[in-house]
Amino acid sequence: MQRECDALRTKGKRIVLVPTMGYLHEGHLSLIREGRSRGDFLVVSIFVNPTQFGPREDFQAYPRDLKRDVQLMKPERVDAVFYPDAREMYGAHFQTSIRLSCLPKYLCGRSRPTHFTGVATVVAKLFNIVRPHVALFGEKDFQQLLVIRRMVEDLNFDVEVIGVPTVREPDGLAMSSRNTYLTAEQRAAALSLFQSLKEARKQVLEGERDAAKILQRASDRIRAYPEATIDYVAICDPETLQPLEKITRPALMALAVKIDKTRLIDNIMLCPEGMSGSDPGR
Ligand code: AMP
Repeated sequence: MQRECDALRTKGKRIVLVPTMGYLHEGHLSLIREGRSRGDFLVVSIFVNPTQFGPREDFQAYPRDLKRDVQLMKPERVDAVFYPDAREMYGAHFQTSIRLSCLPKYLCGRSRPTHFTGVATVVAKLFNIVRPHVALFGEKDFQQLLVIRRMVEDLNFDVEVIGVPTVREPDGLAMSSRNTYLTAEQRAAALSLFQSLKEARKQVLEGERDAAKILQRASDRIRAYPEATIDYVAICDPETLQPLEKITRPALMALAVKIDKTRLIDNIMLCPEGMSGSDPGR
């Protein structure tokens, strides 16, 4: 992969990378389509990265179907699918990792303390293997996008990072490979994530500025479903992820909820009326 991309780079081709864990859906395809328009050689990586899963998480159960993924990518004019093996990525003596000091203290990092080290490290590896000019990431994983942007700046990776808006099902549920775990009943409960975010946005537009009140209403709405267990619901600064008490400028509202055993995340920007909805994730 590295040889191939190096040769293309030397010829002046612009290389684009879309990193994924596979089991593709319209969210991934939206990154791929955006990626297609941004360069000459489009690489999609598919790697269920073991180091970003905690010991009690769903690494083994995570859905995998390369044939299906390749089929879905057929109309998208992808130039290469990079599908490495975990043993190839992490030899027996692997011992180097990238750990960010602040961003992982918040949101998902609290209950997944090693997750972002796994993410940053594997993305750094992918960047060194593919050497892309451009890489695309979804705003659905907002904290991940911030972590990658920070890493790129801190470590001088010569990569342009592009954030892509969240793609949703017609009823609003954010697309996720993990949605396949949900039964019909659980899927109804899962809708409460986006509904509570939408309600929060409405409250802010109606003048509510007190984060605690908004969070309370969102939590109540989600807890109405017995299948739902809240990991966090937070309103925070969209650059540092530090909690905000008052919404006086654009704020990120993010949540993680377990629907039975399936952990889902979603987020939305809350913008007080009259303020530009500047979205640093983009
Ligand atoms: P994953 O395969 O879940 O690791 O996701 C691969 C990339 O696709 C990440 O950059 C995700 O943020 C992005 N992604 C996942 N779901 C969505 C979605 N519903 N909309 C937009 N991007 C997404």
